[in-house]
Amino acid sequence: MPRFPISVVQPQLSAAPVVERWTEIESVDAHHYKVSGNLVVVTLPQEFFVRELLDLDLGDDQAIVDVTRAYGLAHLPLHEIWSFPLTKSEHEAFVDWSCARFDLDVPRNTFRALRACSRHWIAALEERSVVEAWSAEGIHFRPGSRYSAEETAWLAWKRLVGLALEGLLAFQIVYLDSSPPNLAVGERPSLAAGIAIQLLNAIDSEQGVRYCENETCGRPFILQRGGAVLGQFRAHGVKYCEPACARAQANRAYRRRLKEVAP
Ligand SMILES: [Zn+2]
Repeated sequence: MPRFPISVVQPQLSAAPVVERWTEIESVDAHHYKVSGNLVVVTLPQEFFVRELLDLDLGDDQAIVDVTRAYGLAHLPLHEIWSFPLTKSEHEAFVDWSCARFDLDVPRNTFRALRACSRHWIAALEERSVVEAWSAEGIHFRPGSRYSAEETAWLAWKRLVGLALEGLLAFQIVYLDSSPPNLAVGERPSLAAGIAIQLLNAIDSEQGVRYCENETCGRPFILQRGGAVLGQFRAHGVKYCEPACARAQANRAYRRRLKEVAP
């Protein structure tokens, strides 16, 4: 064992970021929850940042609790962004680590802000208005004396992604005195960081989003999820976000053909 049992390594953006979640989460009152038990590491599902995140109903408290239970607490210090439209005061929307309590508006607003970042990326790729990507999440930038609304949206995007990755990019600390070695990535890997890493990896891969051609789905995706071989993702010639959508659309087309033959 080395005399000083830590090592500092350069960070890499993992293709499949892991996040930490607590094993227990319980309601304290209508707005506050408490986490307890052990921290366990889970892999964030592929393309969480354009799939589960965009599907999430932010008005549904239980849905937010369920995502928090599955993938950990998303908490960006949004109050650090000057005049960011979602910000409650720090006092009103808190995460209190000393008694492991948090206000449900913390993950709710963090999800809303990170969703806006995903939508901003998609809008920029498709040469649509990035300002509208934010207003779709209820975040409105008004043109000011220094910056246009569009410039403000880009500033907010950079600031938010930077906030999510804070603590990750400088270095990683590996604790060698535990077995297996405990990889501590600056702070603990967080759901917000995992989402930002997926977004940056998507930008880096230069792959755009496509939309599922199952007419009752239409969701954005990058690679088809869950093919014949687990862990394989198809990129080219794919029309459906997952095989179930391909089957649903094929069945629909089949029923339509039957109707045409025997009306
Ligand atoms: Zn689909």
